[in-house]
Amino acid sequence: MPQLGAVAVNTNTTHRLSGWGRVPIVPGYEVRSENLDAITRDVPLTRGLGRAYGDAALPAPGDLRVAGSVLADRILAFDSAGGLLTAEAGLSLDELYRALLPKGWFTPVTPGTRFVTVGGMVAADVHGKNHHVDGCFGRHVVSLRLRVADGRIVHCSREEHPDLFLATLGGMGLTGHILDVTFRLARVSSPWIYQEVERVPDIDAYMDALKTSAKSWPMTVGWIDCLSKGASMGRGVLLKGRWAEPHEAKQGFPTLGAQIPVPFMFPNGVLGIPTVKAFNALYYRLPRPHRAVVHPAPYFYPLDVARDWHRVYGPRGFTQYQCVLPASGGHAAVRRFLELVTRGGGASFLCVIKDCGPEGDGMLSFPKEGTSIALDLAMRDDTQRLVDQMNECVIAEGGRIYLAKDALTRPEHFRAMESRLDRFLAVRRTWDPDGRIRSAQSVRLFGW
Ligand SMILES: Cc1cc2nc3c(=O)[nH]c(=O)nc-3n(C[C@H](O)[C@H](O)[C@H](O)COP(=O)(O)OP(=O)(O)OC[C@H]3O[C@@H](n4cnc5c(N)ncnc54)[C@H](O)[C@@H]3O)c2cc1C
Repeated sequence: MPQLGAVAVNTNTTHRLSGWGRVPIVPGYEVRSENLDAITRDVPLTRGLGRAYGDAALPAPGDLRVAGSVLADRILAFDSAGGLLTAEAGLSLDELYRALLPKGWFTPVTPGTRFVTVGGMVAADVHGKNHHVDGCFGRHVVSLRLRVADGRIVHCSREEHPDLFLATLGGMGLTGHILDVTFRLARVSSPWIYQEVERVPDIDAYMDALKTSAKSWPMTVGWIDCLSKGASMGRGVLLKGRWAEPHEAKQGFPTLGAQIPVPFMFPNGVLGIPTVKAFNALYYRLPRPHRAVVHPAPYFYPLDVARDWHRVYGPRGFTQYQCVLPASGGHAAVRRFLELVTRGGGASFLCVIKDCGPEGDGMLSFPKEGTSIALDLAMRDDTQRLVDQMNECVIAEGGRIYLAKDALTRPEHFRAMESRLDRFLAVRRTWDPDGRIRSAQSVRLFGW
């Protein structure tokens, strides 16, 4: 990497950038430095580990450079009595796991991969398996140091510039460059997870089991087979978990193993309907212990076992579609949505269904009380049409989609599902009247 003063320019790229789904791939490159303050002065966007699936972390058309935060990864302060931590935005959850879990601390909310940065967790206001209990990550964020569009560095919190703070939680990097984050960690009873597994025969049973478990388990998530039809439609496997008590925990610390590489790009179409059907049937029937104490990494981050697993989708890439359907629609709404997916041939290895608790205070945060459904869709000629249909269904049900996953939603659909949008855009305009901070996603959805 050639050095430009303190700034390292990442030339390990063919000047193309993409999100995790590799749809779209756009011209662009990252400027990386340990000094995030320096490299965010004149770029339109900051990006973390690139785990947003779509175009949220990509430069807008005409922009090329984005700041890459990953070298700015220091822990700046840690209060080991109260668990308050200040870190640079590029610190990853992987590093936090290694540094703090042995000391009995962990982030109160974690997404399904540990290869995310703290800045990315704030910008997407990520949620985990415990949303019904602990809300999004933003609920635990105390303050932020942010470089705003006019170049100033601003401290914000629920007391100081509260509008800017709340617009930044889930604001997909559009209010400014997050430089440091101060947030509360959670004390864990041991570094191991106590897990219970339940196989459920259809979608109604699945939804009932999800609701019942949410009353007594802090973490719930499940996978359903979105290709099964008729009486077994929505059959699946529900995982319930909590941190194990010291007397239940295994001996020693659950260290992180090496990832299995996926060293080459699979051909397009390997993950067609027949493969997914076979996988789903096998996964459903796989024998599993009903109760067990398990390693937290495969529990929280099952996909991290393989590096570059997105390559199995082939050069055309894939998109992940995630929506939340409000609780008021009940099982019927979830059933209607799944019928649409099955009819539209939305074969997905991963159809993950979880419970969302009440909406948080992040102005564009994704979750609202109801059911979240996420599915991976290999890109095909008709994927845009399927996404349009799913969005129309979500609008009719009063739900919304998750921007961290999105690549294909149309602006009119997003507006129809997001009643908080005008307030968010007003805050954005106050701090950035010339529209300097932008992404490929913001230009696609909001025009700037
Ligand atoms: C396998 C997998 C599982 C996932 N599971 C979940 C899940 O369970 N729950 C969930 O909520 N999400 C989940 N996600 C999505 C992921 O948590 C978010 O997309 C997260 O934002 C990625 O963090 P990142 O550091 O890679 O950010 P990037 O992908 O690089 O960026 C994401 C957004 O954050 C902005 N951003 C990043 N850093 C900064 C900064 N310093 N300042 C300002 N803006 C910034 C970017 O501009 C962009 O808009 C998952 C993703 C994957 C690949």
